[in-house]
Amino acid sequence: MNWTRNLHLSLLAAAPLLATLSPLAAQVPSAAPPGVSLAQTQPPALDTTALAKEAQGWLADLIRIDTTNPPGNEDAAAKYIAGILAKEGLTPELLEVAPGRSALVARIRSAALPDPARAVLLVAHMDVVGVDKSKWTVDPFGAVVKDGYLYGRGSIDDKGMLCANLAAFIALKRSNARVERDIIFLATDDEEQGGDASIKILIAKYWNKFAAGFAINEGGRVVLKNGKVQYVGIQASEKVPVNVTVIARGPSGHASIPTKDNAVVHLATAISKIGAYSAPVHFTAIVRRYFEQIASLEDDESAKWIRALDTPDRGEHAQRVISEANPLWNSMLRDTVAPTELKAGVRSNVIPSEARATLNVRLLPSDTIDVLIGELTKLVNDPAIKFEVQPDAGLAAPDSSLENDFYATISKVASAEFAGAPVLPFMSAGATDSAQLRLHNVQAYGVSPFPLTDEDSRRMHADDERIPLASFEKGVNFITRLVIQVAAAR
Ligand SMILES: [Zn+2]
Repeated sequence: MNWTRNLHLSLLAAAPLLATLSPLAAQVPSAAPPGVSLAQTQPPALDTTALAKEAQGWLADLIRIDTTNPPGNEDAAAKYIAGILAKEGLTPELLEVAPGRSALVARIRSAALPDPARAVLLVAHMDVVGVDKSKWTVDPFGAVVKDGYLYGRGSIDDKGMLCANLAAFIALKRSNARVERDIIFLATDDEEQGGDASIKILIAKYWNKFAAGFAINEGGRVVLKNGKVQYVGIQASEKVPVNVTVIARGPSGHASIPTKDNAVVHLATAISKIGAYSAPVHFTAIVRRYFEQIASLEDDESAKWIRALDTPDRGEHAQRVISEANPLWNSMLRDTVAPTELKAGVRSNVIPSEARATLNVRLLPSDTIDVLIGELTKLVNDPAIKFEVQPDAGLAAPDSSLENDFYATISKVASAEFAGAPVLPFMSAGATDSAQLRLHNVQAYGVSPFPLTDEDSRRMHADDERIPLASFEKGVNFITRLVIQVAAAR
């Protein structure tokens, strides 16, 4: 398939803007005989191959800048990006949020009077989660290229998208095209921990620097199955993370004389029950629409059960089958509770008076933590056990609209990019910066642009995170096309 030609055809609506992109196309080595200019042989098409190569270099450099959070140290990455933008004649600004931690913002202004409500934010975060180096087969911060993959922490979450956004933003700038709305590049910090330097703080301190009505961020997916894009999920909603501490208390004592009220035993029993718990299924509007559309893309057996999910007679059985078939589907249908940390004991021969566990809860945006804690209290049924909701709980944000022109444009460009693949609204189980943006009336959409197999997607936050180079190029292409299209939309 001729990728470039296909993409070119898909964007006829942005033709006036695309025509001005010929300087970019001219940078690409062409198959035309020497002495014959591209312009003479074919109409100007946006070929992002060279741009993607350039962006791959930025990605490798950014992987080598260790922004493991904590502590983050995003300043180094922000300064690196600022250097790239400045070379393009743009004026990036560092927004300091905490010592050593700055976000970065840059803007391409529309010729018309700026209208923040129409402005579009390209958001990606610079920080990454930690690594267990001993479990990696390559240096996690070495940006090793092997077998068609670029390996490194952050390659898919989220430095890949950071570089795709950067490429799109720079392509727009190089085109010198008149844009119909402000396009704002925003690199955030502290996304993975949501602490003192997070987007929440950034919004509180610097909202006027990047106020926008729309945002493109991580959180969606381009699902690659059997070598083909099965569907493109556009994230318009996300689950709400809440950490809960489970505390068991009992008398301390000499371990040589065990008693029944050992806090460790009470905690273990409680966690065992919680681990087997399954919350009731609730359909949010977006999840309902996702399942309606995905049924026809699955095999007959799965499709049958997906269609029965909300039926009175077979619904309960269908929910069980579907939840067991796919852990992501399970997470989309209900609140989930994952025990993640255990803490107890000071010496092997001392019975401790307290034992603690952390539950990482992910609520559907329509649900509340109090109801879930009520259920867990009944389930555990043990007066020695207390639940404490940690104060850093996220807030449920309203869904982004699926009815506006912006969403329609994302769908159209995505479908054209990925050979007519269906485009579905999606609720992510994981949290992104979009929740905070949505709470500020931003219509934010998760468009993780790289086609990935489930196997590669699962490496996010895991060992040997990597991005297929071919997928990276497609993602750069997609985001660039999308940004050009929305920038040109009146
Ligand atoms: Zn991320």
